[in-house]
Amino acid sequence: MLSTGDSITRLKSIGEKRAGLFARLGVKTIYDLLSFFPRHYDDLTSPVSISEALPEQKCCVKAKVTAPVGEHRIRKNMVIYKTKVSDGSAGMNITIFNNRYAAAALKVGSEHLFYGKVTANFLQKEMSSPEILPQSEQRIRPVYRQTDGLSSKIIAYALKQALSETYIEEYMPRELLERHGLTGLKEAYSNIHFPSSHSALKDARRRLIFDELLTMQLGIKLLSRVKSDISAPAVKTDYTSEFFAGLPFEPTSAQRRAAAEAVEDMRSGRPMKRLLQGDVGSGKTAVAAAVCYTCIKNGMQAAFMAPTAILCEQHYRSFLNFFRGTGVKSALLLGSTPAREKKIIYEQLASGEIDFIVGTHALLNDSLSFKSLGIVITDEQHRFGVEQRASLISKGNNPHLYVMSATPIPRTLSLVVYGDLKVSVLDEMPPGRTEIKTYCISSRIRERAYNYIKKHLDKGLQAYIICPLIEQGEDEGLVSAEEYAGKISRTSFRNYSVGLMHGRLSAREKDAVMSAFARGETQLLVSTTVIEVGVDVPNAAVMLIENAERFGLSQLHQLRGRVGRGTAESCCILVTDNQSETTKRRMQIMCGTTDGFVIANEDLKLRGPGEFFGNRQHGLPSFKIADIIRDMDILMQAQSEAERITERDAGLISRDYAALKPRVAALFEQVGVDALN
Ligand code: ADP
Ligand code: MG
Repeated sequence: MLSTGDSITRLKSIGEKRAGLFARLGVKTIYDLLSFFPRHYDDLTSPVSISEALPEQKCCVKAKVTAPVGEHRIRKNMVIYKTKVSDGSAGMNITIFNNRYAAAALKVGSEHLFYGKVTANFLQKEMSSPEILPQSEQRIRPVYRQTDGLSSKIIAYALKQALSETYIEEYMPRELLERHGLTGLKEAYSNIHFPSSHSALKDARRRLIFDELLTMQLGIKLLSRVKSDISAPAVKTDYTSEFFAGLPFEPTSAQRRAAAEAVEDMRSGRPMKRLLQGDVGSGKTAVAAAVCYTCIKNGMQAAFMAPTAILCEQHYRSFLNFFRGTGVKSALLLGSTPAREKKIIYEQLASGEIDFIVGTHALLNDSLSFKSLGIVITDEQHRFGVEQRASLISKGNNPHLYVMSATPIPRTLSLVVYGDLKVSVLDEMPPGRTEIKTYCISSRIRERAYNYIKKHLDKGLQAYIICPLIEQGEDEGLVSAEEYAGKISRTSFRNYSVGLMHGRLSAREKDAVMSAFARGETQLLVSTTVIEVGVDVPNAAVMLIENAERFGLSQLHQLRGRVGRGTAESCCILVTDNQSETTKRRMQIMCGTTDGFVIANEDLKLRGPGEFFGNRQHGLPSFKIADIIRDMDILMQAQSEAERITERDAGLISRDYAALKPRVAALFEQVGVDALN
């Protein structure tokens, strides 16, 4: 018997050459092959009667040949075979091109399955080049994604061999399978590929979806593993009120509540694991600062990690403001920080002189260590994976974890992405914010939008124009930021100062561009999406977004959140010439609401979870068969089962669960996570 880890070349039908083709589909081991699930199925189980067969639709008919096959040579290399069949309900013409072998099987009186598209010529039905199958093929047939040289048929054949020659070991405890009414693994693999019935297929799917979701949930739990008896740096005194009292504004009650929830967690003596969700502009940074301040005053160091340099600089500036006069010593660490400065920062982090460090993944550097790291805060925007978080956490002694996210997502989904973090929500905006009005226009009236922008610039306000790409020629028909900025500063906006911002500028150049804009020296900033997150220039009141159809809804929402941060009435103009229904729907949503939750949910519905989270950006593996929206009910079951399992056996070492561990490791390996060490 073969085992699932063996190479597919152990199968008789697969030699080196074919193995190369399979490799292109990502299939190397027998396990890969077994997990190469059909794209869909041909249902040959219940043939329709000829009289009821709908024209122009693929269907399966079971009929007897009623006339000898006629042969017509059309050209030198073209022979057409024609015959008639009947199933008692009606007759049908069959036409076959050039396939002598198929035609020869059609003896008068013999019965076959005919699978193909029915056409109706007047009342006479006809099937052209149908697949002709023996009656024994009356079953549900898998259809696989194929590549050149590797047809669905060949793949099915290899799978038949694999299923009969491989020892498939069950890795779930029987008790668990029974409790969830799940079918055995071998049976599930066998029925997902060659279903013995519709209900067997359904059961197989449920079992395999459950496996995938449970494995993922276990992985998340193991990655963020906290033993229940672990002790964390304790917060003895709450300094959040003291912190808030020093701010130039009154915190919203949502901000106070969120800060109190975090402090409450940290008093428990166990590591906090909490997610702070809040729409753009809801004031998450101030809450994070209050929480950090409390930790620092309780003798800990705090580390704040954000995904981009711009965002770090921005946060760093806000934190400096927040901490002014408090005696908190802060520092900023980026990839681009000069080596000499880095060295000093490392020393001062190790000695405990620096209380608070803001940085990109530069914080993950091996030679960086803390004297007493007590809290890790990450600003995620879906850009960190669980593993990066884990890596920063490992630099402390069970520090608290506080995750900030501006993309509000339903609770069930946050379970998937963030594991078992508790959630605080900022569901209230600071007062005085003006609603951002949003319009969608076609490029024909772009000049009018420009005039509208100029009116604002003349009043001393500022504006953004967002383009999807950097350079010309990356994709036809799209407006590039560089070219765009050049053009408008020579034409429509020649009397204004125009800045240009994009991802390929060096950190220093970006900084220069951003500060010129923040100081108001630049009136109009043309930018790519690098300013999507965090950038905070309250004097900017208008944003125009070119090729708006190119952006996801959540991204548009983030971008739009760059305006409406001051007191001036703000507006966002979406420019698109795309007429598709999806685009129309998306623009309608953007113009109709500024509620981040509504937008995130719509986005999720329109794009599906894969794209919504940005493939692989979130550090979670992609699914082969599960769909976290469609399979929400199975997800909930898997979630509670994962909880049950990790409560009993947090490290998956007992005999019952040890077999699950390599599966979890394998799933997370795809995303480059060394999951379980
Ligand atoms: P978020 O990170 O949630 O998008 P920020 O923390 O960046 O929001 O806050 C946006 C702006 O609002 C900042 O300039 C911040 O100083 C200010 N702000 C935060 N909380 C309040 C409040 N309660 N009242 C007034 N302004 C606030
Ligand atoms: Mg912010």
